[in-house]
Amino acid sequence: MEVNTGKILRVNLSTGKVSRESVPESIATDFIGGRGYGVKYLYDEIAPGTDPLGEKNKVIMLAGPLAGTMAQAVSRWIVCTRSPLTGAFARSVCGADFGAWMRFADLEVIIIEGKTEKPAYIHITPDGCEILSAKEIWGKDTKETQAWLNSQHGKNTRTACIGPAGEKLVKYAAVVSDRRTAGRCGTGTVMGSKNLKAVAITATRALHLADPDTYNTLAREQVNIIKDNDAFLNHKEWGTTSTQDITNTIGIYPVRNFRYGQQVDYQKLAGAEYRKLRVGDMGCYSCPARCGKVHTVTSGIYKGAHSEGPEYESIWAFTGPIESNNIEASIRADQLCDDYGLDTISTGNTIGFAYELYEKGLINKSDTSGLELIYGRHEPMVALIKKIALREGIGDLLAEGTMRVAAKLDKGSDVYAMNVKGLEMPAYEPRGAKSQGYNYATASVGASHCYGYAAQDIFGAPFPHPTDRFDEGNADIVIFNQNSTASNECGVICAFAGGWGWAQLYGKLLAAARGIDKFKDDAYLAEVGDRMFNLERAFNIRQGFGRKDDYLPDRIRTEPLHTREAKGEGQIVGHSDEFLDKYYELRGWTKDGVPNEKKLKELRLDSVLKDIKV
Ligand code: SF4
Repeated sequence: MEVNTGKILRVNLSTGKVSRESVPESIATDFIGGRGYGVKYLYDEIAPGTDPLGEKNKVIMLAGPLAGTMAQAVSRWIVCTRSPLTGAFARSVCGADFGAWMRFADLEVIIIEGKTEKPAYIHITPDGCEILSAKEIWGKDTKETQAWLNSQHGKNTRTACIGPAGEKLVKYAAVVSDRRTAGRCGTGTVMGSKNLKAVAITATRALHLADPDTYNTLAREQVNIIKDNDAFLNHKEWGTTSTQDITNTIGIYPVRNFRYGQQVDYQKLAGAEYRKLRVGDMGCYSCPARCGKVHTVTSGIYKGAHSEGPEYESIWAFTGPIESNNIEASIRADQLCDDYGLDTISTGNTIGFAYELYEKGLINKSDTSGLELIYGRHEPMVALIKKIALREGIGDLLAEGTMRVAAKLDKGSDVYAMNVKGLEMPAYEPRGAKSQGYNYATASVGASHCYGYAAQDIFGAPFPHPTDRFDEGNADIVIFNQNSTASNECGVICAFAGGWGWAQLYGKLLAAARGIDKFKDDAYLAEVGDRMFNLERAFNIRQGFGRKDDYLPDRIRTEPLHTREAKGEGQIVGHSDEFLDKYYELRGWTKDGVPNEKKLKELRLDSVLKDIKV
């Protein structure tokens, strides 16, 4: 059986040079694929100090070895780059069909270098690649862009593109494919800085597997397991549109810029209320869950608003930060973000921050062009989204994200900026789910909910052991969640699908796809996750990050949480130093948070030693 390591397409936008190469077997063995390849190539090719919006930064798009096959929920894809929002390692995960289409074109990695003088897009086929003018679509929203590319290249085309927000270099612009987004960290901003509007792939179904017979037998087994799994059936019915029922009940729904953990009258936001406006569902390639629930507003000032979503994070982003219970406004806001190509989490969090600045008198009506940013009012929030995307008025400032707004505004506004490493915090209150909070603190990308999702705290998952969600001593759980997420993102498995009862097949599927037997060993997969996380850490250390960047915002560490009727009133995250000491020790890092020599050698990352001061 021949080993199948996957192919790379390298496109240099400055020179127009295009080349294809194979991934060396040593890299495939150590990093498997997907995010593993992302961190390896980013580490090797992005020098310390590279300007995230300069010509030398790169956008790396990655499909995993399982994408485009009959296996279910394994065709998600990833964008890696150096983040213009944080300056740290960036990875953002997306759904829809694009990952499968990369595999149909026999590609697992697309590395985009340089910058075009004039707006352009890349068109890829299984045996070709052209850089073409984007004159007709520059300025268009993501829906119009994708429709135009389909009209040019036919229905067998799938696209990853940016909207006006990426063109305007909003620091948290997203890459959009269909109506799914690689939202976090400003990956769309980096595309915009390269004058790159889109990557379009035209291809038809083709399989590239080392052992297709074994693979397809395993995939059939997976299909059989999933179809009757309760967690799958629940996800198929609701997607994430009812998660707010749980997070409000237990007091971890961040409200008014992370001051409360429960929203007044939160029942008005219940999943059952969104259900009344549901008109359909959408999904990713080869996933029967179709968890993207489509909503249409049928009356009121947002009549006609229509969105594939909002999903939980976006439901929160457009309700909790400004304490609005208007679900129609959240649907409209979600639609606008997808059209403009904005990360909903950073957008909603930054708007909630602006509302608090307004409340505290640090900005006023003359700054906001007359908008009154008063909690409960959703109209100004919807208006701000357009201003941010197009950098109009105060939107030009808010487009920089909470960390930079605070630095520019000064006036003590930094205490209201709810981010870690510059990445805005998402929809789980750290004071009521502390392992989740410490994942935000230590994740390579900053405050990402899904970099090491603490299902133990949030849903009471008992694996590898249960947690008390107010306990700050679970460094082992945070590491377990982060490493297992990393190895799952080699596939690339959807984060939801890991709990559908087929985890024991993952390694076997990887082994049959690649022809590398050691992937069958779960302990080896955990080692790869650890290797990836350590290399990401080394990437960040080389860029100047360290222990000082592993803390949650002051508000979370010093201001007691108010939970209204839920458990957890008065909680703070008060033991960060003890937690970090323990976490670093378990990771094999120094007190400063630098991977030590022994650890790097164990993980076959010896070459990194020369780059970081241990
Ligand atoms: S569960 Fe939802 S997000 Fe995950 S692959 Fe399926 S449709 Fe996509």
